[in-house]
Amino acid sequence: MKQEIKDHRLTDAAFEEAADHGGRMDPTHIVIHYSGGTAAGGIDWLTRQERPPISAHVMIDRKGVITQMVPFNFVAFHAGRSSLGELREFNEFSIGIELENWGPLDCQRGEFLTYTKRVIAPEWVIEAKHRNTGWLWTQRPDYWHKFTCQQEMACVDLCKGLVAEYGVVGIVGHDTIAPARKFDPGPASTNLMAVLQGLTEEASEDVPEPLHESRLVAHGGDEPEETDNAEVQTEDDSGEGGG
Ligand SMILES: [Zn+2]
Repeated sequence: MKQEIKDHRLTDAAFEEAADHGGRMDPTHIVIHYSGGTAAGGIDWLTRQERPPISAHVMIDRKGVITQMVPFNFVAFHAGRSSLGELREFNEFSIGIELENWGPLDCQRGEFLTYTKRVIAPEWVIEAKHRNTGWLWTQRPDYWHKFTCQQEMACVDLCKGLVAEYGVVGIVGHDTIAPARKFDPGPASTNLMAVLQGLTEEASEDVPEPLHESRLVAHGGDEPEETDNAEVQTEDDSGEGGG
């Protein structure tokens, strides 16, 4: 579904206004995050006043439902200290997208657990090493929460809309622009990030619709109906993920 944007807001998404946002900006980049908790908990955390301030432009839950929190032409506080090449301080020129996902998981007695000890069903877990290296990474678990096809497709559609509306030239992961301190969106997002990066390359080279979206479907494969009931609970136990 194509995402329509009017007056810097999605016309088909709920809008829950963040208490904290910065001044006006012209977005040239998109930064992808995972929420590190439930979507509901993340929205609650990202829209209330915090010191230091925390916010993001949108949350995409595991069913692909989008909630916007900051208009796309205003700064949100999602990237923190960040750099890539000559670029610094991504909050000033980027749209922050949070994907509902618990991030790294522990394996204990045959069960995959979030840092809040929530059990994640094995079909929603991938085994992978984070590509970043350094002291911070040596202690990380090898298991990561998978994204759903619905949220990946919603994210691709949203980014297509943002590329068309704002001429976005780069889509990056938080772990690319803050590699010493951030894990998100992590190894479970490898296919998604490849598709997203293709969107801006294709825009800049003016070539037609991408063909490789089918990889997302293949990646999701025979996923079952939402069997992980833990996913849809809305208790407020979201964690660090945005800043
Ligand atoms: Zn992040």
